[in-house]
Amino acid sequence: MSTIRNQLIIYDFDWSLADQDSDRWVLEVLAPHLRRRMKNLKSDHQWTDLVAQMMRELRSEGGTRVQVEQALREMPFHPAMKRCVRAIKVRSDPSTDLLVLSNANSVYIRTILEHQGLHEGVFEDVITNPAHWDEQDPDLLVVRRRVDPKGEQHKCTVGCSANMCKGEELEAFVERHGKAFDRVVYVGDGSNDFCPILRLREQDLALVRRHRGLEKRIEKEGKSAGLKCQFIYWTGAWEVEEIFATLT
Ligand SMILES: [Mg+2]
Ligand SMILES: [Zn+2]
Repeated sequence: MSTIRNQLIIYDFDWSLADQDSDRWVLEVLAPHLRRRMKNLKSDHQWTDLVAQMMRELRSEGGTRVQVEQALREMPFHPAMKRCVRAIKVRSDPSTDLLVLSNANSVYIRTILEHQGLHEGVFEDVITNPAHWDEQDPDLLVVRRRVDPKGEQHKCTVGCSANMCKGEELEAFVERHGKAFDRVVYVGDGSNDFCPILRLREQDLALVRRHRGLEKRIEKEGKSAGLKCQFIYWTGAWEVEEIFATLT
C-alpha cells in the first residue's frame, strides 16, 4: 500500500510543460530579426525587461495581439504531456495538486493552457511574471517582473534572476497552500530550476530534462550545494508520462 497520500507536482513551463520556449518562439514566428536582436542583447539585460522591450519593438513594427496569440497557439506542446497531466489529476491515490512556476509571463501561459484545454481545474496556481494587454493600445503586451524592481528584492544566493527566485516562490506557495505534501515532484529543464530543487527533501523527486541548463548545474554544483532530492532524467514528454504512471 502506498504511503504517499498526497503530492504536489510543480511544472516549469518553457521546455518542461510546453515543448518550446515561449519568449523566443513568439519572436521566431513573428519577427526573426527581433529574435536575433534579443539574442545579441541578452548578456547585458535582465531577461524579463528584455522581453518587455522586445514586445514594445514588435508593436512599433505593427505586431498585433491576434498575431501573438496565434503564435502561442501554434507553439509545440506534446500530446503525451497533456495526457499525463490529465491522468494524474484524476487519479485519487495519491491525490495530486499541480502548480506552474515559470519565468515566462501570465498572458503567454494562460493563452497556451486555454488552447491546450488545461486551464480549468488542473493547476492550483500559475506563478510567473505578470503581463497584460495595454489599455490604451490593446495590441501591446506589457510584461513586468514578478518582483517589482522598485520594491524589496528577493534574497536568493544561488543565482536566480532579479525578476523572481523560484525557490522562494515555491516555499511561499507551500506555506500559503497550508497543506503538508508527502511528496513533491518538480519537472524542470533550466538553470533557474536549480534553486527550487535545492529546497526539496529526500522523499521528493526532480524530473530533469536532459542536455539543458539544469542537468549541467546539477553535475557542477549539486553535491557542493547539498542537493537532497532524488532525480530522474528525461528527454521527451512520453518519458514523463511513463514516470508519472509509476508515482504510486
Ligand atoms: Mg524551462
Ligand atoms: Zn533562487
